[in-house]
Amino acid sequence: AQKRYASIRDLPAETKCGQIISLQMNAGLLADLPSLEGSGAEGVGLFRTELQFLIRNQMPRRAELSALYSRVLNAAGGKRVAFRTLDIGSDKVLTYMKPNDEPNPAMGWRAIRVGLDKPGVLRMQLQALLRAANGKPLAVMFPFITQISEFRAARTEMDKAMARETKLGHALPSKLEVGAMLETPSLAYAPDAFFKEVDFISIGGNDLKQFFFAADRENERVRKRYDTLDSSFLAFIRNVILRCEATGTPLSFCGEDAGRPVEALCFAALGLRSLSMRPASVGPVKHLLRRVDLNEVRKVMDDAMNNGDQSVRRAVADWLVYQV
Ligand code: PEP
Ligand code: MG
Repeated sequence: AQKRYASIRDLPAETKCGQIISLQMNAGLLADLPSLEGSGAEGVGLFRTELQFLIRNQMPRRAELSALYSRVLNAAGGKRVAFRTLDIGSDKVLTYMKPNDEPNPAMGWRAIRVGLDKPGVLRMQLQALLRAANGKPLAVMFPFITQISEFRAARTEMDKAMARETKLGHALPSKLEVGAMLETPSLAYAPDAFFKEVDFISIGGNDLKQFFFAADRENERVRKRYDTLDSSFLAFIRNVILRCEATGTPLSFCGEDAGRPVEALCFAALGLRSLSMRPASVGPVKHLLRRVDLNEVRKVMDDAMNNGDQSVRRAVADWLVYQV
């Protein structure tokens, strides 16, 4: 697939109306990094750090993690990597941690909730990330933030980790970005202060969609019932975009849907300017984006929504037939 799109690999994802969409890739292992080159992605918009924890049978040590993160940063060769701190619980279970017997793990003690309640691992991870950056730029984001207080508490952990590093005489990152993943509807209605305090926001569409529609992402039967291009879901995302625009907060989308060309097109038409996807999707998404005028897409979507269509998919697909 990458061969097929080789001719546009080094070209920007620039639409016919002159908008440039930043296409990033999702990763989780060092072995994914060579795809940065091959896919033409501008950076790693989501590095899922839990994969390193999931493939082991004991808790990794800080020195190991920091060596790994440093290899990831080197392999990225100066391109930005957004490290997502440990997102365990729910569907991701560590064999060496006592499983919590919860009736609804997806809505249970997971991700940043664990990180804040039992901060040992989060602290080790933040320190490992700071060490790995070794004076170079660093971007870190916290998963499953549902309210401003959780973001503030997580950021305080980062501040403490930095103070510790300074005391130990280690270099601090030349530039530090601390972001939040928006994966629950509640965060979209956080006070303005949240949008001002956060350095960037990344929409985790997989979880967001499951909580928006109350439809388990692991349950095919209900998951397929709701379209990502559902008018209500798009209206919700549009609202997030507007809030971020009002405060100048950088926003991206890193769920699987970002890698589906028609979805990516609609997100761009709504105003998203950064999408992170699996490496093999970068070519196809760029190919489509380079052929369209987003104002026209937006008009087709608005018409469908004004018509009362449940999803804009049919309208956009019909329109596309005559475009590409
Ligand atoms: C998401 O929820 O969209 C996301 C990117 O995180 P994960 O799929 O790892 O939960
Ligand atoms: Mg998620």
